[in-house]
Amino acid sequence: MKMSHYFLPTLKEVPSEAQLVSHRLMLRAGMIAQECAGIYHWLPLGLRVLQKVEGIIRKGLDDAGFHELLMPTLQPAELWEESGRYEAYGKEMLRITDRHDRRLIYGPTAEEAITDIVRRFIKSYRELPQVLYQFQWKFRDEIRPRFGVMRGREFYMKDAYSFDIDRESAEKTYGRVIQAYMEIFKNLGLKAIPVRADTGPIGGDLSHEFQVLAETGESDIYYDGDFDDFTFRGGEEDLNRIKKLYAMADDMHDSALCPVPEDRLKHKKGIEVGHIFYFGTKYSLPMKTTVTNEQGKPILVESGSYGIGVSRVVAALIETNHDEFGIKWPEQVAPFKIGLINLKVGDDQSDRVCAEIYERFRNAGVEILYDDRPESVGVKFSTMDLIGLPYQIIVGPRGLKEGQIEVKDRRSSEKILCSVEDLYQRFLSHA
Ligand code: ATP
Ligand code: MG
Repeated sequence: MKMSHYFLPTLKEVPSEAQLVSHRLMLRAGMIAQECAGIYHWLPLGLRVLQKVEGIIRKGLDDAGFHELLMPTLQPAELWEESGRYEAYGKEMLRITDRHDRRLIYGPTAEEAITDIVRRFIKSYRELPQVLYQFQWKFRDEIRPRFGVMRGREFYMKDAYSFDIDRESAEKTYGRVIQAYMEIFKNLGLKAIPVRADTGPIGGDLSHEFQVLAETGESDIYYDGDFDDFTFRGGEEDLNRIKKLYAMADDMHDSALCPVPEDRLKHKKGIEVGHIFYFGTKYSLPMKTTVTNEQGKPILVESGSYGIGVSRVVAALIETNHDEFGIKWPEQVAPFKIGLINLKVGDDQSDRVCAEIYERFRNAGVEILYDDRPESVGVKFSTMDLIGLPYQIIVGPRGLKEGQIEVKDRRSSEKILCSVEDLYQRFLSHA
């Protein structure tokens, strides 16, 4: 992508109400723009990150054997009356009336919709367990939308739903989801702790929040310091280890009952990036959702739901990966891998070398953003640091006279001088 033709509306100043660093940086880096309270446009640079995050989550869920579908954002009120949540959900739910006076809602979540699908299409125990998931925009009329996409009103969620024939099998499925989530958050470059949580309005009796430690987080958590040294590698053993380690949301934590010695117990702030619930027959009972068991008798299905705040994850990644100059993207979620800076647009040799580097990387399928604008060197450096691409390749007449270009690692700030051939060797030899 050439920056001269890109749509990258970076900002020098952001509104003073944007206090959280991720909110400020997303606005400044031209990733998002506010439409109205709690509702944001995702501009091209931001959308690329959102889609990378989505891709990593999708791969983790597909690898776990779960199946993606896509449900509408709009749902009929009748479904929610069946479950009893139409009134209970309260003012966070956006209620709509169509031209025929039919009542619709804009989905804040989709337990009713998915239960209805299972009720219609799954008949026998042989078709279970089943975990279905989607990526879809949600609307919740939050009383205080704030911190940009961290707590929006419209936000992007991955929501999954499980269906099993009994509690034992449902608990196994719940464990499979924890395992998939640990893998996903690791692959996103986030350290997320599964914290025992109160089950809240969705209800049920087993629930974990996945919390990313960050001083700016809205949640208060207590956890065993052993988590800090624990790296999830996957498998039964690691899953059991995680289940045993203590981690509680503050409203569930009781210092008198806590088994962790005081010197090992940590109290920190977290960003809730995921939330999972097991709620048994909470929806299958009122919605009469059964399958036949081995004896041919109808039994109620046992369910859970599993969310990841995809758009919130983007903000959480920035909260945990930035410095005073801007964002420092982990490579796997970066909007582009490389930023190419031409220090002197108009200089024949610089233009020629940059054009060649740009083509070679593009042909090799490496995502590269080329700053070919006739801007000052200062503007180019600060823009590149702000948007946080993992590697910067800096090309100018002075270096080229010595046959050299510069490569800067945005995360470590390490800079090296090398020849163009060395550059290809380093980045393209295995591409
Ligand atoms: P919170 O306590 O932060 O309001 P929740 O418990 O209401 O979250 P869930 O219903 O479990 O959230 O939704 C699943 C995930 O969706 C959450 O873990 C969070 O990452 C994300 N999420 C929820 N509400 C919002 C919001 N208003 N803006 C952005 N992401 C959100
Ligand atoms: Mg909420």
